Amino acid sequence: MAMKDARESLNGQQVVPVVTEHWRHLWKLRVPPKMSHFLWRCSTGYLPCMWALFQRWISNSSMCPRCHVAEETPLHATRSCSLCVAVLERASFYLKLNPGTSNNFSSFIEHAIQVLTLDEMKLLIIILWSNWNERNLVVHGGQPRPALVIFNQCYSIWTSLITVQERETCDRRNNGVIAPDIVRWTPPSPQGLKLNCGESVSNNGSHVGIGALIRGGDGNLVLAVGERLIGRLQPCAAELQALILGLEVMVENGWRMEKVETDCLEAVQLVNGCDDCLAPEGVLVDKVRMLLASVGIQGISHVPRSVNGAAYVIAKSVARLNGRFSWLGVGPHWLMDVVADDRPVTHGCNRAVGGNSLSTTGFSHIL
Ligand SMILES: [Zn+2]
Repeated sequence: MAMKDARESLNGQQVVPVVTEHWRHLWKLRVPPKMSHFLWRCSTGYLPCMWALFQRWISNSSMCPRCHVAEETPLHATRSCSLCVAVLERASFYLKLNPGTSNNFSSFIEHAIQVLTLDEMKLLIIILWSNWNERNLVVHGGQPRPALVIFNQCYSIWTSLITVQERETCDRRNNGVIAPDIVRWTPPSPQGLKLNCGESVSNNGSHVGIGALIRGGDGNLVLAVGERLIGRLQPCAAELQALILGLEVMVENGWRMEKVETDCLEAVQLVNGCDDCLAPEGVLVDKVRMLLASVGIQGISHVPRSVNGAAYVIAKSVARLNGRFSWLGVGPHWLMDVVADDRPVTHGCNRAVGGNSLSTTGFSHIL
């Protein structure tokens, strides 16, 4: 293939990322601006790797100057080159990233956002950024450093970042910027699933929305659903419909559940009652009980509205929309913000060498 044709072919592959909800969410990670900017350059083809230089007629070759076995795309220069892989492998979340499934930088980052926690995501960005700096060092004549040294440097930057952010959160809470935590959403056991259901009925009763979401032991979103209900409904009936919506999703997927929570005390009393329900909502109550039996759980739990914020925000948001909405793994930013606020920062990031384990506890409010 003539060089001109090769360049045109490469141009055809250029990745111009769509600013999806994923990306908007990414900007809220509060990594240093130089790293956000770096991510953006990687995704838009403005990282001066050999692939980009070749496209702009600045270089005669697009091959990686370090390994010489592949084109140096942004993804190769930061993740796929053998030395980059060696650094990433030291992060405990490496296997979750399914190496090889993404063919460009943007899809890699979008995949990572879906499978990593927010704190893991910060460490990933720091590693990608450091891998690029290391690449520049080597290309300009520096000696390659061992992967362990690079990883430890990334880890050090990451722990400092987390520490500073947690201190800021603490200060904001102490200064009354963030309300103190009285009761918070708690995740299920590590392998468990928890369902939260909520409803939103407007003052005149004309806009009724129901929402449900399933989260795992790490607090990450597994699936969320929301639907607008037509007709006037009392909050309790709407809440029962929300429970049915969430439980049906569990049954359809064959998932077992650990706990179901709602902030409607009346619905909880009806469902958990021993007798046949003689209230007008009796049919709905029977259906909830039947679905609960299908997912292997007895009874539902009442929590304050503040604990059920994620389900409520879905219900409120879909109340004025038409149709049924579902989000797998990642939802819109208004939902992911609440999910992030709910999530406890109780992850462990094991260092592959040295055996040290970092575990932070507390809550992340303004990630
Ligand atoms: Zn390479």
